[in-house]
Amino acid sequence: MRLPVRLGSRSRIAAMIVATLMIGTLTTSCGIKPHSMKHAAIIDVNWSEDQNRDGAKPELAATADSNPKQDSGITLATATPPKSKPNAPAKAGTAEQAGKTSTTPPVLPPVPILLQKPTEPAVDYVPKKGAKLVALTFDDGPDGRFTPEILSILKASKIHATFFTVGIQVNHYGSMMKRIKAEGNEIGNHSYSHKDLSKLDRNQILSQIKQADVLINKQCGYVPRIVRAPYGAVSPLLRTIMKENHRDLIGWSVDTRDWAGSSVATMRANVNKNTHPGGIILMHSFGSKLDNTVQLLPLIIKDLKNKGYTFVTVSELLAAKADAKAKAKAASQSSQSKK
Ligand SMILES: [Zn+2]
Repeated sequence: MRLPVRLGSRSRIAAMIVATLMIGTLTTSCGIKPHSMKHAAIIDVNWSEDQNRDGAKPELAATADSNPKQDSGITLATATPPKSKPNAPAKAGTAEQAGKTSTTPPVLPPVPILLQKPTEPAVDYVPKKGAKLVALTFDDGPDGRFTPEILSILKASKIHATFFTVGIQVNHYGSMMKRIKAEGNEIGNHSYSHKDLSKLDRNQILSQIKQADVLINKQCGYVPRIVRAPYGAVSPLLRTIMKENHRDLIGWSVDTRDWAGSSVATMRANVNKNTHPGGIILMHSFGSKLDNTVQLLPLIIKDLKNKGYTFVTVSELLAAKADAKAKAKAASQSSQSKK
């Protein structure tokens, strides 16, 4: 896949600044694609590469999704459009031949896909006073190569992270999903097949989210509350749909650009320079250039711990932000009542 319009470096820098600013509200900005379309190409290639990669054979071979490029891996009863073809000519040997009047089947609207309400257990997290929180996030997995290494580092460091998983990968790496959850990490929805959701219509968006929901729920026992749009590409429609369905759209404040094969030194400097309290760091747990991610992880955990950061999951971060907001509101109400 080629990028139809390449942004100039100035535009890219501007887009990154805007994206970073928007992340403060924990939502991705409309139309901005910090991953860039290069990422799109990498992701697509990776998924097809994964079918042949040594040591990363799908655990659930010969499942309904033998071809990850197809979106039809799961049959959703509610996603099946009516099979009527209103304008199709009558076939020979049908009612017309029998001298009967042919009737055009009515045009029915597509059956809307309904999302289940999130069933992820509520997180009640109140940080210690003055705590500096940061959330590590890993997109596009799980896989059989990088995800286990990342999980082992997190476990050894006694911290938890958040994995935004892609339905196709969830289907192939069910036991890795169970391990992510068993080790105390959080799981988010990153669509079924990593489509740019900002370019899809309502039912296509719902289908992408629902298919991932179903697979995640099957492996981990809950429907996630948090969603990260592939490429960070968010349309007003996606935002509306997420709101209607009680989902939180999650962006990031630091993009390590690990997917592009950035050097460990570059990524480490970037994380140290740009991480602020309440930040969300974007990395990946599936891709072709993630050896550096595995090397980077223990280093930034050490760096950020030395700076006094506490590592939390995204939902813990959201809970802490909600708690801080509620406390600030109560404080302002109490100061107003004293006047
Ligand atoms: Zn992604």
